[in-house]
Amino acid sequence: MPPKNCPVCDSMNTERFLVRRGVPVHQNMLFDTPEAARAIARGDLEMRVCGACEFVFNAAFDPALVDYGPAYENSQDCSPAFNAHLDELADHIVTGRGIRTGRIVEIGCGKGMFLRKLLAHPECACDAIGFDPAYIGPAELMGGRARFVTDFYNPATAVPADTVTCRHVIEHIPEPLDLLRTVRAGVGASGGTRVFFETPCAEWILRNRVPWDFFYEHCSLFTAGSLALAMERAGFAVTGVRHIFGGQYLWAEGEAKNLSPQPPPLRREGENAIENQVAYLARVSFAPPPFLGEGVGGRGSAARAFATEERERRAHWDAILTETCPRGPVFAWGAGAKGVTFCNLADPNRTRLAGVIDVNPAKQNKFLPGTGHPIVPPNAVRDAAAVLVFNPNYLAEVRAMIEQLGSRAEVIDPMQEAAPCSS
Ligand SMILES: [Zn+2]
Repeated sequence: MPPKNCPVCDSMNTERFLVRRGVPVHQNMLFDTPEAARAIARGDLEMRVCGACEFVFNAAFDPALVDYGPAYENSQDCSPAFNAHLDELADHIVTGRGIRTGRIVEIGCGKGMFLRKLLAHPECACDAIGFDPAYIGPAELMGGRARFVTDFYNPATAVPADTVTCRHVIEHIPEPLDLLRTVRAGVGASGGTRVFFETPCAEWILRNRVPWDFFYEHCSLFTAGSLALAMERAGFAVTGVRHIFGGQYLWAEGEAKNLSPQPPPLRREGENAIENQVAYLARVSFAPPPFLGEGVGGRGSAARAFATEERERRAHWDAILTETCPRGPVFAWGAGAKGVTFCNLADPNRTRLAGVIDVNPAKQNKFLPGTGHPIVPPNAVRDAAAVLVFNPNYLAEVRAMIEQLGSRAEVIDPMQEAAPCSS
């Protein structure tokens, strides 16, 4: 298969830096038996970085393998740290950006938690429509102010909106410009619709060498520059891209450009034009990149350094497990994408970890995709020798919970040598 052009800027200058064969296609699917969990569909990761715009993508991604139906469970709102993050975002949109009236559309609303937080804000008089094929619940809530469509947001279902929020969706889309152009077309030609996108930051993953942040569902990973470029190319004026949630996520804001009377031609720029545009967007749209030194792609880059260090990282976890497992049961904390990816990399045959602890009751007593590790409630930590925590943002709350449960389990942060990152 010939290497694919960059889905954001069309450059042919892309470089493969990470290959993993036969990884589970879903990280947030729940299974009733270990056998079913191990029989999950598998696909390949062939991560490439674009030398022109620094977009990172899985060139081997096959959309036919994934299924975001009702069995998909990715709620993180049982975590106080994540809840606080959502509250902050809702307040930023309503009071910081003055979104108090009109219609909000949320693309990929999950179980509707964020949308309900927005509408429950005391200063928000908006109504809202949430789109998600995995939505489960009543079609209307809050006296009809919140409505839900159990479907993808696509040209057939799109509705006009004054504000669009789209959190943690675009990284699942192999042709992200298609999604952005659908949103741009859906909100109406006259422009002015405010848009807010949240997505993981590829640069944070690469700089901090976080192996469990590369997994099948996330086929499209952005840097601040490549996200701004993608939005501009789809017809949005980008007003800012910044890092949030300890630097792990990008938060992009923009406004739909006025497309009337005629839509602008879709230019196919040469590579230099793209590089100039990325540099331009970096100057006008957002604060200076938080990471100094090497670039994301190319010679001596963060992507190449990531590739060379992956082997060392694996040896490091191996050493951690070899040292801790003889002392008693060792659990991973959090059956989200990071924990699932770690277990599949570090304990594929379930010989070392006793299971995975998760605070979400909907995940407990189910089994982990790919490996079949049991997912257990937090009180399992009482007899544990150690727990591994993959997201530094949750370390404090995990430590507090362990203490509260009277456990003496050691809390291990396998990212301990990670570089600082925020902006
Ligand atoms: Zn590119």
